[in-house]
Amino acid sequence: MAISKQAILTSAAGTALRQAFRGRLITPDDEDFARARKVWNGQIDKLPALIATCTGVDDVLAALRFARVEGLVVAVRGGGHSFAGFSTCDSGIVIDLSKMTAVTVDPDARVARAQGGVTWGIYDAATHAHGLASPGGLMSTTGIAGLTLGGGIGWLNRKYGLACDNLLGVEMVTPGGELVRASATENAELFWALRGGGGNFGIVTSFEYRLHPVSTVVGGLMLFREKLTPDVLRLYRDYVSQCPDELGTMLSAITAPLVDFVPADMRGRPSMAFAGCHCGDPADAERALKPLRDLGPAVDLFEVIPYPDMQKMFDEDLPYGIRCYLKAGYLPEMSDGAIEVIAEHTRPFSSPNSTFDIHDMGGAVKRVADDVTAFGDRRSPFCFNIVGLWNDAAEDEVHKSFVRSFATALEPFGSGGVYVNFTADPDRVRAAYDVTKYARLQTVKRQYDPENLLRLNQNIQP
Ligand code: FAD
Repeated sequence: MAISKQAILTSAAGTALRQAFRGRLITPDDEDFARARKVWNGQIDKLPALIATCTGVDDVLAALRFARVEGLVVAVRGGGHSFAGFSTCDSGIVIDLSKMTAVTVDPDARVARAQGGVTWGIYDAATHAHGLASPGGLMSTTGIAGLTLGGGIGWLNRKYGLACDNLLGVEMVTPGGELVRASATENAELFWALRGGGGNFGIVTSFEYRLHPVSTVVGGLMLFREKLTPDVLRLYRDYVSQCPDELGTMLSAITAPLVDFVPADMRGRPSMAFAGCHCGDPADAERALKPLRDLGPAVDLFEVIPYPDMQKMFDEDLPYGIRCYLKAGYLPEMSDGAIEVIAEHTRPFSSPNSTFDIHDMGGAVKRVADDVTAFGDRRSPFCFNIVGLWNDAAEDEVHKSFVRSFATALEPFGSGGVYVNFTADPDRVRAAYDVTKYARLQTVKRQYDPENLLRLNQNIQP
């Protein structure tokens, strides 16, 4: 049941919050509540008692203080892309950073600072103006916060590492209400935990990243006919061990879209999509793409484009409000058995919007020693994601059970682990880390959030 504005903001603590807070305090009584409570996954339908839209550190401190005094459940929102809907809640407070979107770039030092509500689209636009970029994800609409804190799989990983590998420092509000800095030299253990341990330790108000010279890239997509599915998967298995670090790739099973650039006989049919982003010399990119071209793609859309355009290539396929359910894992190898399961389960999907994505985890990701960050698994060559996507609520169960049965069939081929940003299941969160790493994360959690105030996340149990 929705709590009225009177009930939530008229206590002594509520009055103090109204006086101190510079952003908007949105309650179910407000006209913009319906819009403000929405998150990316259309399946999530929660009614918070208060959405505190912060403008800066002081607002975050005030909102957190209020939550503690009133004993409210706390959700923290950056880009709103949590598949599981962790960035909202029923009857509690959403500490919403989505209006904190400032980015400053120091091109000489090759460092950028971004507030906690920035999305990759905003970040990339600011750094691209200087011919620079940091490794982000595969889309422009995801928040830098949730993505970086969980690790960050994206186009530039092979060359420059995960998003978290490029983090130089943060400014964070602790659950106890203190503003702290974490970097290699300040609160180093917290800094270790923040690079892969998720939003467990505090609310990050500012991220500082290393920048690299990336401006235009050779980027795009090839589509292969259904009959080539096993061939493409087999080629990709060997291809990633040889391809240059400049080329970040993703192989996806999809349903070919009903658009002009797809041959008429392929539209609406199962298809393999090879997407890539080469951040080096275009002539090297042509050489690197040749083995795929030799297989005979029906569509080849690779061209020289600005890096921010690469980041936006899939935005329209994953719009705000689409319904989503996913299961993910790592493949220690792409065996013939795994290829058979993948081919069988993707012809066709239960929904034409759904995809099965394989991410290459090689190159610079593997060159960072395992204990340098909390990120879970740098050994497996492939991370996979079965992404159920659909629009009609009446079809929820059909598509969820499709994803579950696909995941069960693939389970024997997986490592048992999972990328923490691709899961919500508490048991799977434990499986995202080895025993030593999980215990180390628990120690940091006990230091910064012993009462588990921040528990709407891939939770590390204090
Ligand atoms: P939010 O929903 O706002 O936040 C998610 C969680 O992050 C919160 O519950 C909180 O625990 C934490 N959090 C958010 N902001 C803060 C903050 N300022 N301080 C502390 N904790 C905070 N992942 C990849 O690695 N690569 C991808 O290419 C990729 N693509 C995606 C595309 C889509 C369409 C979606 C929905 C997700 C994608 N993801 C990807 C997964 C994504 O990394 C996670 O869902 C991530 O948590 C989203 O971050 P956010 O800030 O947008 O989300």
